[in-house]
Amino acid sequence: MPAFLLTTEFVQSEQTDTEAFLQSCENGNVHTACSPQGSPSGSSSDGERPDLSRGKRRTTSSHPRQSEHNISESDTDFEEEEEEEEEEEEEQENDQEAVGNGDEECQGDVDKPEFLSVTCGSATGTLQKDRFASGTSGKCIRTASKWLTPVEFAREDPVLANSSWKKSILCQGIPISDLIERRVLIPHSLLCRCRLCSKNKKDLMEQENDDYCAVCVRRGSLLCCDQCPRAFHTGCHLPTVDKGTLGEQWLCTYCVLTKSQGWRYTCDRSLTQALESCISDFMLECQYLLLQLYNADKDHIFFSDPCDTVTRYREFIKNPMWLDKVAEKLQDRQYSSVGQFVSDIHLIFKNCATFNRDNEFGQTGARLRQLFDEEFQHVFSVKN
Ligand SMILES: [Zn+2]
Ligand SMILES: [Zn+2]
Ligand SMILES: [Zn+2]
Repeated sequence: MPAFLLTTEFVQSEQTDTEAFLQSCENGNVHTACSPQGSPSGSSSDGERPDLSRGKRRTTSSHPRQSEHNISESDTDFEEEEEEEEEEEEEQENDQEAVGNGDEECQGDVDKPEFLSVTCGSATGTLQKDRFASGTSGKCIRTASKWLTPVEFAREDPVLANSSWKKSILCQGIPISDLIERRVLIPHSLLCRCRLCSKNKKDLMEQENDDYCAVCVRRGSLLCCDQCPRAFHTGCHLPTVDKGTLGEQWLCTYCVLTKSQGWRYTCDRSLTQALESCISDFMLECQYLLLQLYNADKDHIFFSDPCDTVTRYREFIKNPMWLDKVAEKLQDRQYSSVGQFVSDIHLIFKNCATFNRDNEFGQTGARLRQLFDEEFQHVFSVKN
């Protein structure tokens, strides 16, 4: 997978000092996606996306992880680590709570995943708190390419493969053992029968993919990519997916682009050549670029029409533009050249700079514009 496919995902937050970090963990405020902070140039304050004319379709069946708990086939063979046994007593105390956590998953779009940046030697990943169960159960750590249990993640760095995962996996310098002690992370009991602790094949398979949409970072009925860990609402993916046409296997746009790079004829082109290209020849690239922006816009600042949420926006900005609008135009084939698509994207960030200047939102806009331009150069093989 080319490096550029992964540059923007799971953007890590800045380091905070240890105490502040732990406090925010305990308050449950760390890395909550889509933190509602309103936006001078963006979406409604709760990050809710409006109904899109590009047609938000939802699968009828619930996403597997949203359904009720299954009883695992066996609860005798799932703890392999001696270390785990020592803590059996404590973990049993936590049983009630752990099961409670599992039930909360059924809240659908209401709850948002909380993430912690973790490292183990040279390996880096993101731990999703509500997926944490124990060392060997619950694929709770997302690396760039897959979900792993803590023990599997600890093996990613061969030097640390034999050390205790609780000590070797660090969250902003703090070992997992400390987070467990402070109940930031709550291990499931040895007797827990939730789907995270189950060793049943289907339950394990369900943990291979994200349980929130790669575009809007919400839960719900998601379509899982068969190649990578990403999952999407059918209406959020670009192109939108018609569930009726789904075959055995489904690959997301990220994976289709990666695969196609193997056989598509690519040559270096000048920026002018790239912009003058017919968009129908580069639909995949444009969809990919747009998905990247959605993914990088964690606070949904640029998702929807700013005029709906920002008072007097119209007085300052003549031609408002937003990501959903670009997606709609792309989907409806309203662009004939790649340049027209790029102009609309640049318009979003130009408006943002005009309206916000150098405040927090202005800086976010500048960062996303830079990201877009870099990704554009990569996918279109633009030579300087
Ligand atoms: Zn469990
Ligand atoms: Zn979505
Ligand atoms: Zn994929």
